[in-house]
Amino acid sequence: SLQQSAADLLPRYVRVNTLKTTVEDAVDYLKREGFLYLGQASRLDDLNLKKKAFVQDLHLPEVLVFSPKMDFHDHFLYKAGHIILQDKASCLPAHILNPPPGSVVIDACAAPGNKTSHLAAIMNNKGQLFAFDLDAKRLATMSTLLLRAGVTCQQLANQDFLTVDPESPQYKDVEYILLDPSCSGSGMVCLRDNSSSADVEKDQARLASLASFQLRCLNHGLRFPRLKSLVYSTCSIHSQENEDVISACLQQNPSFRLVPLLPQWPERGLEPFTQCLRASTSKTRTHGFFVALLEKRSESEPVDQ
Ligand code: SAM
Repeated sequence: SLQQSAADLLPRYVRVNTLKTTVEDAVDYLKREGFLYLGQASRLDDLNLKKKAFVQDLHLPEVLVFSPKMDFHDHFLYKAGHIILQDKASCLPAHILNPPPGSVVIDACAAPGNKTSHLAAIMNNKGQLFAFDLDAKRLATMSTLLLRAGVTCQQLANQDFLTVDPESPQYKDVEYILLDPSCSGSGMVCLRDNSSSADVEKDQARLASLASFQLRCLNHGLRFPRLKSLVYSTCSIHSQENEDVISACLQQNPSFRLVPLLPQWPERGLEPFTQCLRASTSKTRTHGFFVALLEKRSESEPVDQ
């Protein structure tokens, strides 16, 4: 079908799991298997790859890029947890939050756990990584995924993030939060055309209800007393779930500000939220995505908006 072919045109992205291997070792392994390594990409066009050619990504050095047809589901590196099959855009949130080893971190809506495993890799399995999800089945899938990825610093809980008490002894020291809540999924290339029904009013009501949930999660995240930064992401292309949620949140939480992200990234949040990132098939060769980083202002800093 048409939709299928749009998804097939996206490069195949693979994140190297640095808990198990290094980018160099993964590249060497693939070269020995007959893949053709072309070095690090320097522009977006370098991501248009054919046959067995591959490159290191230009923005995210732990990401390797292959031709759209490549399938790693049966590959040793995937089965052994050395590589994670993850779209490049979905590697942005953990990369941007960048919690140092030893820090206390929450992944608020975590299953199936690709971003949790990325956080653990950045933390080098050191510190505390609390991961919540409402859906027990998705959480079970996540346990398997984290085991394969060699993640050991996590504590999983089948709990509504909105009921996690920011003042409780267990969570009061949380410094970093990754919030990737349920969204419309309108950025997923294969879903895009199916997701909008003929009923415009119904779609609008669904978006409004998702946006209100997303804002509640965001406001809740900002209540953790030692919080330094929170990354918010969706795989939606709708401003109602992205810039509008951030805008309402900033109005309600004047002690937080947006951090300008990756200056070299080619697609920005809609005006005036250009500190945030957007991603799309045409501008970044990924699924549609949105990322914002909120940071606590220092005590002395004036509130400018
Ligand atoms: N971050 C995940 C990853 O990268 O693999 C994907 C998360 S998915 C977009 C959103 C998740 O939020 C779903 O698994 C859903 O079950 C969960 N969820 C929805 N409402 C929640 C809530 N109130 N508390 C915790 N998790 C929730």
